[in-house]
Amino acid sequence: MELLTNPQTYNTCFSIASLVLILVTYLIHASEEKVYNKQGHIFGAMIFDAFMLNLMGLLHNAYLYSDVFKTVIGYDGNCYLVIAEKMFAYLLPYLSINYVMSIFQINTNTILKKAVIIVPTVYSLSLFIIGYFTEFFFYFTEEGNLKYIYPQGATVYIGSDLYFIFATYLLIKYTKSLSTEKACALWIYYVLMLLAVPIRIVTKSSSIFEFSVSLALLLCVYTFQNPSEFVDRMSGAATRNAMDFSISTNILQKKEFTIFGIHIDRLVVTMGEKSPEFSSELLEQITEYLKGFSPDGTIYYPYMEDFVILFPGVTAEETIIDKTAEQIRKRFKESWKVGEEEIKLFETPYAIAFPDEVDSLERFHEVKAVLDKALGKQNRDIVRISDINLKVVEHDKKIDGIVKHALEDGLLDVFYQPIYSPVTGKFSSCEALLRLKDPQLGYISPAIFMPIAERNGTILAIDRYVLSAVCEMLAETDVRKYGLEYTEVNLSVVDCIQTNLAESVMGTLNKFKVKPSEINFEITETYEQGITAVMDENVRKLMDIGMSFSMDDFGTGYSNLVRVAAMPVELFKLDKSIIQSAFESETSYMVMINLIKIIKSLGKEIVAEGVETGEQARQLIKLGCDHIQGFFYARPMPRDQFVQFLREHNG
Ligand code: C2E
Ligand code: CA
Ligand code: CA
Repeated sequence: MELLTNPQTYNTCFSIASLVLILVTYLIHASEEKVYNKQGHIFGAMIFDAFMLNLMGLLHNAYLYSDVFKTVIGYDGNCYLVIAEKMFAYLLPYLSINYVMSIFQINTNTILKKAVIIVPTVYSLSLFIIGYFTEFFFYFTEEGNLKYIYPQGATVYIGSDLYFIFATYLLIKYTKSLSTEKACALWIYYVLMLLAVPIRIVTKSSSIFEFSVSLALLLCVYTFQNPSEFVDRMSGAATRNAMDFSISTNILQKKEFTIFGIHIDRLVVTMGEKSPEFSSELLEQITEYLKGFSPDGTIYYPYMEDFVILFPGVTAEETIIDKTAEQIRKRFKESWKVGEEEIKLFETPYAIAFPDEVDSLERFHEVKAVLDKALGKQNRDIVRISDINLKVVEHDKKIDGIVKHALEDGLLDVFYQPIYSPVTGKFSSCEALLRLKDPQLGYISPAIFMPIAERNGTILAIDRYVLSAVCEMLAETDVRKYGLEYTEVNLSVVDCIQTNLAESVMGTLNKFKVKPSEINFEITETYEQGITAVMDENVRKLMDIGMSFSMDDFGTGYSNLVRVAAMPVELFKLDKSIIQSAFESETSYMVMINLIKIIKSLGKEIVAEGVETGEQARQLIKLGCDHIQGFFYARPMPRDQFVQFLREHNG
């Protein structure tokens, strides 16, 4: 009670409040998975330091303001407390600087550099020890407060001033590589620390300083130590964000390094067939195994089928890369054991050297996208940039630019391919297919530009444009009169995971007064974790208003039949590759017949796609396909021509 009623209470209150903050920070920190070894350790040390600092401060206040504590602690005890408090306070700038350096991955690998950084702290700490015995730097007042003796006592500030100069330099130089929120957090942390000195002088108390330290730590735990951004929950490895960040800080520091990746063939499909627990356990095992090869123990899991290790100071052709690849190859020859099950995985390693081969993060992603096409072909040697055609990278980049402006520049056009229904003998549906016409390159195939649009995000605007164009066509022409029942519109996976998909679609339909039953969305199967929930939700919402769905590209090999059978789709589109190979080989023909049987047994309708000859059409109709689409009947054509086509054939 005496503690709280004392006029100097605020000191005590601040001390208690900061202890609570530190406790919260510690709990958050302790509940995280640790990947960022070094950064995590330094952060732990900072929390410990701040805790001790606050505890000493609190006890010192107790000594000052409570008679009970005064007798328990004693005059000498209080002196030790204050000195310990000061020492913890002067250790903090050192830890902070190390923390900032670990964030930016600046290594103090030489003894000289290490010494330069630690010397100011050693000086401050010794000042307190020597000062205690000599009373040269400071003395204790009768009440038990520490007073510096000027000028020599002021030298204690030199160390922290040096650290602040260094920290300012680091922040100005490197915050570019941080996201805005991180940069803000780091600057706030810095300003809080910087303000501490005048605060201490004005308030003549260190409790407020200690409180600001605790606040700053809490800020860090939410930004830099934030597990969801840096740690992948499934594998325990570091995320794509973490990898991008490491790459950009290393580039900024003009360091030489190599990104060594291990691509695992069909990993997504393999995991799609197993339980999430199985997948997580498998990914964790691979991460643990690979840790042994990583110089700093960090393994990245940036893409669904790739693990990545960063080798600092390693150039393109160094033996360490070959040796690592060699050992990993041996390990992958054996199987992985998860619980009772054994599973075999096939990997392809790749290596990209910075800055020799690639000198920016954007360039890395461009090159990686092209490299992906060379991976997974069970090429057992290391795939390198020299193996890929850099012209393709340039080409992709050029198309990326075109796609980004295609909408504004009016380069997009929607074509329609009539679909034949044998039962009625009419073309009662069609598929909307996008065309991009560049003034210089001519027509660019959607098979080429769609994956690029998915990557750069323009796909959302593009697919919205297609749906609008289709609705406009239905509203403005006589196609309904000529027997068109519905139009099939392709939906990209990226659309399917947008939470506002249903609202956006309904808005467009209402605008053109198109009935939901006049549109059928084509979706493809995907196994990306976490996507399915939102996707299912979207499908269900749109079905509720009367829209139907079909499963596109069925039979291309990635379909998990159990999951597919449970999907609420009414139509299955047999992929054109299935149809085409079926008429070339006996086994493929059997595969096709069985796929048709499966779909029929589920009570769903079939669209056969890519039908190019009359013979194929006859056979497929005989086998029970409900709709036939292909060049044999008609190619995709512009709107006016399509209306004309329906008038002639359905009339
Ligand atoms: P898809 O959905 O499998 O579309 C069918 C593709 O088969 C179309 O290619 C069509 O022109 C082609 N095709 C139709 N009949 C035949 C045939 O008899 N023989 C052969 N060899 N091909 C035939 P297209 O128009 O080049 O489109 C390629 C892919 O681009 C589409 O494959 C689809 O995945 C995507 N795509 C096209 N338009 C859109 C769109 O508006 N939105 C989205 N998200 N994707 C689209
Ligand atoms: Ca399609
Ligand atoms: Ca298809």
